[in-house]
Amino acid sequence: MRECIRCGEQMKEGCAIRVEGSATGIIMSTKENAMFSGRIGYPKVAICPKCGEVSIYVENVEKLK
Ligand SMILES: [Zn+2]
Repeated sequence: MRECIRCGEQMKEGCAIRVEGSATGIIMSTKENAMFSGRIGYPKVAICPKCGEVSIYVENVEKLK
C-alpha cells in the first residue's frame, strides 16, 4: 500500500490518468528514443483521499533493473 508523501495517509491506488483531447495515451520508456524496446508500460496513478496529492508510478519495476 502506498503512503502519501505529504500527509502519510493511505493512497487510493490503481487510478488512471487520461489526457483529454488526445487519442494517444501516456507511455513511459527507459530510453527516450526507443519507445518499444525500453517500454515499461502505462503509468498508474495513486491519489491521496485526504490532501489530494497525486502520485504517478509504475507497477512493473522489474524492467527498470
Ligand atoms: Zn496526503
